[in-house]
Amino acid sequence: MISINNKNNGDNKKKGEKNRIDWKSVEEKWRDRWEKQRIFQADPDFGKKKYFITVAYPYPNSPQHIGHGRTYTLADVHARYMRMKGYNVLFPMGFHYTGTPILAMSRRVASLDKDLLETFDKVYHVPKDTITSFVEPVKIASYFHNEIRLGMKELGFSLDWRREFSTVDMIYSKFISWQFRTLRKKGLIVQGSHPVGWCPNDQNPVSQHDTIGDVEPAFNEYTLIKFRLGDGYIIPTATLRPETIYGATNLWVNPNIEYVKICLIDKDERWIVSKEAAKKLEFLDHKVTIESYVLGNELVGTLAKNPVTHVSLPIYPALFVEADNGTGFVMSVPAHAPYDYRALEDLKNNFSIQKEFGLRSVEVKPIAVIESDDYSGIDVIPSKQIINKFNIQDQTDTEIEKATNELYSHEFYKGKMLQNTGKYGGMPVSEAKEKVKSEILMSGDADIMFELINKPVRCRCGTECVVKLLNDQWFLNYGDTKWKHLAHECLNNMEIVPEEIRQEFNYVLDWLRERACARKTGLGTRLPWDQDWIIESLSDSVIYMAYYILAKYVNDKSIIDVNNLKDSAFDYVLLGRGDIVEVASECNISSALLEQIRQEFTYFYPVDSRHSGRDLVPNHLSFFIFNHVAIFDRENWPKQIVVNGSVLMDGKKMSKSLGNIIPLRDAIKEHSADAIRLAMLISAELLQDADFSFDTVKGIRSKLQDIYDMGMESSTNSSQSQTKRAKINEELVDRWLLSRLQRTIADTTMSMDKLRVREAAHNIIYSLDHDLQWYEKRVRAKNRESSSAQSTLSTFLNTRIRMLAPFAPFISDEVWEKIDNSSTSIIFAGWPSADEDKMDIVAEESEQLIMNLIFDLQKIVRVTRINPKKIIFYTTAHWKLKVYNKILSSVFLKSNPNFGDIMKQLIKDPETTKAKNDSNMVRKMIEDILSDPIETRNRRLRLEDFDERLPIEDARNLLSLESGNEHAEILVYSEDNTDQSGYDQKHKAKFARPFKPAIYLIDR
Ligand SMILES: [Zn+2]
Repeated sequence: MISINNKNNGDNKKKGEKNRIDWKSVEEKWRDRWEKQRIFQADPDFGKKKYFITVAYPYPNSPQHIGHGRTYTLADVHARYMRMKGYNVLFPMGFHYTGTPILAMSRRVASLDKDLLETFDKVYHVPKDTITSFVEPVKIASYFHNEIRLGMKELGFSLDWRREFSTVDMIYSKFISWQFRTLRKKGLIVQGSHPVGWCPNDQNPVSQHDTIGDVEPAFNEYTLIKFRLGDGYIIPTATLRPETIYGATNLWVNPNIEYVKICLIDKDERWIVSKEAAKKLEFLDHKVTIESYVLGNELVGTLAKNPVTHVSLPIYPALFVEADNGTGFVMSVPAHAPYDYRALEDLKNNFSIQKEFGLRSVEVKPIAVIESDDYSGIDVIPSKQIINKFNIQDQTDTEIEKATNELYSHEFYKGKMLQNTGKYGGMPVSEAKEKVKSEILMSGDADIMFELINKPVRCRCGTECVVKLLNDQWFLNYGDTKWKHLAHECLNNMEIVPEEIRQEFNYVLDWLRERACARKTGLGTRLPWDQDWIIESLSDSVIYMAYYILAKYVNDKSIIDVNNLKDSAFDYVLLGRGDIVEVASECNISSALLEQIRQEFTYFYPVDSRHSGRDLVPNHLSFFIFNHVAIFDRENWPKQIVVNGSVLMDGKKMSKSLGNIIPLRDAIKEHSADAIRLAMLISAELLQDADFSFDTVKGIRSKLQDIYDMGMESSTNSSQSQTKRAKINEELVDRWLLSRLQRTIADTTMSMDKLRVREAAHNIIYSLDHDLQWYEKRVRAKNRESSSAQSTLSTFLNTRIRMLAPFAPFISDEVWEKIDNSSTSIIFAGWPSADEDKMDIVAEESEQLIMNLIFDLQKIVRVTRINPKKIIFYTTAHWKLKVYNKILSSVFLKSNPNFGDIMKQLIKDPETTKAKNDSNMVRKMIEDILSDPIETRNRRLRLEDFDERLPIEDARNLLSLESGNEHAEILVYSEDNTDQSGYDQKHKAKFARPFKPAIYLIDR
């Protein structure tokens, strides 16, 4: 039997000490048992619904710290939840060795990088000898692979380890070769010149995994418009708005920068650009030789000819022009570019600058060439208007950037070209932009330039990345329109959790173009048809979820000789193509085995849920979609993507310099796996950054201890009382607790189905705890036999522990073993379902009434400082209840009802006509109702007869206790009968309102 905790705190502490959980042995015991019972090994069970859940596999280039744990724990909670819902869940794990991170790290070890060696030693406690061995990349990978695997086991992840692999396994390489040959056959891999993010030091393309801080290099395509000087030199200016060339009034040069005069041999042209731009041009495949240097101020005042309008424009000085931005020159379009407008005004007003540069006068005027909804009419200068709107004072104002973006996007979507743009007059800007661009490109008056828009991006080797036009490079053609179309189709049919992230996916699918898929260095699989190249890490990790099916067979060396596997085997197993007899003989496998693997694939595929951090939306998760639709038939396209935010430590980003990187395994050892798991998930919903703190961990641990204690008491007593199990004695508060429990089950199930895990964990840990405490308080106050609460508490614990199980699997199994007397995991007990019959609105209303009365009572005692001898409760008169119900049904969902209308209705009805004598009371009732949550209003609507007297009498002892005088006498009268009782001498009864009895204290 479960006894009620004694109220005395000292007792509680003693009890805690006695039963303190030995986390280490509990965790070891269950890890061992789960493994022996093979609970997480999933094989096809054709009579059972399957659920295939995967999470982005880790890079074993460091051990996992707290920050890594969230995504994996979330996936594990999801997997465990689905198992308890009755699904046959497959949850496997692999390890990603491919690419440059591990290689880069071994180079840093070889060069005795102090920072890195110290991290290995001081933060991760890697033995010194082992660190020395890290000059070999594979040693790093295998060491941390093992560390991560141990950490995942210690955290209780319910993985099917039979399917583990690494991406440099020989058979995985065969699988990747098959993937690439398949994509190439479909024409999705192309060779050519395309821009890529590039590390000049490593001579290698770079993507997110190769950069410091994991930033994906992002670049834009600019149009370089060629303005010609009288001496034949060209000044190119980079712009994203070539259509505004008709409004160009001048060029900007930074007078303090040194520029270079260069010869572009490949074009046979002479250009003037900043030194930085000259380097960028080389990476964009131009043959550049430098002829001489020229200071910016020497160019001020020179005239340059607009290649489209043939007007000669002056070059003016401006300090906002940066050497590393574009070419170091800017085409000035003051009517449409706030920067240009502001700089021109600044120059016009600054005579000393004009004098310094020998400018006689600055006469140019903005020329508007676009009109749009917000900016149209004669003499309207859009940039002038928006500068006024943002109240921008000069060209250094930071708001100018915002104004620029707003105007650009407004004119792009809503603008039309004006008649002064010749044949483009009247054309939408979005269309004119492309037409003008291609016309000037065709005529040779413009060129293309790619520029990083999120620079500086640094390679892991420390070098700043650039955009390089790469020749003969192999690309996955994510720009292919048919392919994009399929990817969108897949996304549209997929569940994205949380839904708000879908837009980001749509944007990325549209934005992705050709992407370099091979590198010259790094670990990985060679491109099957061009052995000089190694397939890069974001291209060999897109359909590996299918490989988990094969891995089970491959890992058992006795089953398949991997040397014999050919493409035809992958075609058959993964695509259902080919003749089984031929494939079997080609690969030297039995047809039966081949068929078995195929069956297993069709059973578990597609992926039902893919988990990952939010940072993988623009690359991995989008490639995952693209490659699935390219290779697999529709029935095998993924069903769901779940994205989560990152983890902060006590509100701060985790970083070595802050010293707040905590290795996961250390944290588990010290605080227990269950508490760490819960603390990672309970602080935030999916997209928010989770704020991890050890205070939360400790708080959760003590809650888990309470649950454990309850389980232990239940089990020690249950054997004795089994024979004479007390007849179920359901009092009001028992009905209440069971009803609350049903609501919590319903709410928590809904939360879990949407993966709102913070909400779910909160219900299980905190809300139920709150309910339990109330229950115990009520039972204690009534001096009930503890056996009389046993049945209710057993049901409560049994249900709560099943909801807790996905989050805190170790303690849940430990408690379950005790209370259920079984040795099978709680997983098989299943997720509880809410029992409608046990939802009891009268009990809920009753307990709510008692809680409210205690609150009011204590307030009165505090304010009046009365030590009550008698406490009188006046319950409401019957007519008020009628009035209340009438108001409730008329204002139910409104937030701002009309008082006059309500009064009219009440007076019309003879049952409630009394309301006209007490309009104040009616007002108060309306206020009462509006301040109640919808849930409460809903419940009261359904409540037929509610007698307030019953709960007050039931809680008589508790009310006295809480008043401060446990001997206070409790008296209850109805407002309807007070005249006769003589107990309303102070005329308090008239203040009673429905659900708000009036209270009167007497101190003698
Ligand atoms: Zn590098």
